Amino acid sequence: MIQHENICVKCILPNGFLGVHLNDQGLCDFCSDPDHKNINWSRIEIDQERRNQALEDWNSVVNEMQKNHGKRSYDCVLGYSGGKDSTALLDHLVNDLHLTPLAVTSDTGFMTDIAKDNMRDTLNRIEVDHIFLEDPARTFTKLYKWHFFHHNSNETFLARNICDYCSDLIHSIVVKEAIKYGIDYVLFGYSPDQIFRYFYEMPRDEVIKEWKPELLKEFFFEDFDRQWYLTDEEIEKGTIPRVLLPYHVIQYREQDIIKLVESKNLIKKGHADPLLTNCNVVHAATFYDFNRYGGILYAYQYAELVRQNPEVRKKWLRTLKISAPLILENKFKQKEVNQFLEKIGVTQNEMLEHIHEQLEQDPNKEQIFQNIDIFRKKRRIKPSTPSPA
Ligand SMILES: [Zn+2]
Repeated sequence: MIQHENICVKCILPNGFLGVHLNDQGLCDFCSDPDHKNINWSRIEIDQERRNQALEDWNSVVNEMQKNHGKRSYDCVLGYSGGKDSTALLDHLVNDLHLTPLAVTSDTGFMTDIAKDNMRDTLNRIEVDHIFLEDPARTFTKLYKWHFFHHNSNETFLARNICDYCSDLIHSIVVKEAIKYGIDYVLFGYSPDQIFRYFYEMPRDEVIKEWKPELLKEFFFEDFDRQWYLTDEEIEKGTIPRVLLPYHVIQYREQDIIKLVESKNLIKKGHADPLLTNCNVVHAATFYDFNRYGGILYAYQYAELVRQNPEVRKKWLRTLKISAPLILENKFKQKEVNQFLEKIGVTQNEMLEHIHEQLEQDPNKEQIFQNIDIFRKKRRIKPSTPSPA
């Protein structure tokens, strides 16, 4: 049973949850102060003026691409995942704007069959050149393994770090293809609620800095892995394209996007569900985070939804109560999580042992153990005993 005195009376965040504390009235930091931010939940605030400027920029980029259309093989590169958003953006570029994008996909090794199926359906109906890179999958697997064993933070979730590093690598691979073909613009179909780090454009200096992570210097990584990242030569040449996120400024409504891709038969009915194309790495990181921190990154998002609409609090609390023990014991998305663990060469018990070693050194471990106990159906016998496989 969830003891309600441990949970914020207004939202669903538990006391002691990564950087969250309840005050005397039982309100969490976010609910007692609407301006409160922390590292796991910070949004970029965008004012209307900045939004207008970005939209103006996008329109002038489109104009320029249309003006120069036909002079080169491609007008832009599109990072294409097979999800509904990049599919709809591909359709928009080709059928509304009459442009010729080069679609680029990098296999992370964990691409779902549904995403691959979506790609086949779409590319049967929209005629564009498509580059599908399979080789980087090996590097992605190493990157994940590195983070699952080297994530050592008392402040941030693994799920957050791993998504950042993984998307940096995807972006870098796509941008390198654009450099290869001398293309000036790279587009990604991120929806307005995705990517907290950037609004509309990934600034060039950040692109250079963040896409050459320090960890590449580690012995664990080889030249094979480094080839997917920007080289000093590419940086010095200054031929790095602009990287834009058009859905941050043009109209985006999830239900319209789903309707569009389904009605045009670009994606089969039901295949546009984001839960289906969800990444297995995230499921595995969620298992890690719940056992390590007594919570998951998404709780911040759910808590925000509750703050916006208090009527759904009961529903989210119930969801939390049902899913938490399953996540803790790897019974939620078990097949996907186990496939992932096998691929990075570790068993569930080895992973749990590693988590408990780190937890033992966390100054907040008592609070975390308490929170985990609240969520677990059966009480743990000994704090550091990994649950049986
Ligand atoms: Zn709260």
